[in-house]
Amino acid sequence: MTFNNTDIGEVELARHLRLGEVTCHCCGRGGMHVSWLRAWGRLRSDYGQPITVMSGFRCPAHNAEITATYGASRASLHMQGIAGDIAATDPWWFTDEALRVLFNAGFRGIGRDRRRSLLHGDVRAEPYCWTYRGLERSEDEHAMKIWELWRARHDG
Ligand SMILES: [Zn+2]
Ligand SMILES: [Zn+2]
Repeated sequence: MTFNNTDIGEVELARHLRLGEVTCHCCGRGGMHVSWLRAWGRLRSDYGQPITVMSGFRCPAHNAEITATYGASRASLHMQGIAGDIAATDPWWFTDEALRVLFNAGFRGIGRDRRRSLLHGDVRAEPYCWTYRGLERSEDEHAMKIWELWRARHDG
């Protein structure tokens, strides 16, 4: 039996998620941490429609490139495989309901960029939500308020 390396991207990491969708765009390396995959599975199932992952794992070189071009974080959680950016072309992604669905799923770091129709979701320990203004990030106070309400209802 021969192992065809080009097929490995077809491996299912989770339901509705192939390895090739979340490996590094520059080198094809990496994968996602199981904690992110669990959150992904719940999100995908609650949303109930296909979700396009724009960026999953990033190697340090690729992340540095993105940092220079798009203002990504130097210590990006993408390098640990616990962050993914999805195409948020559906306006629903910018609603409070979407935030609750993301929190329910287990996402704790949420960055929403309306201008680029992009949503970053990671499974960091300490919750933080932000928005983008050009290359600058600023705290998403509204999303943090939704988080506090969510946490109060779910008892931490
Ligand atoms: Zn790479
Ligand atoms: Zn991201």
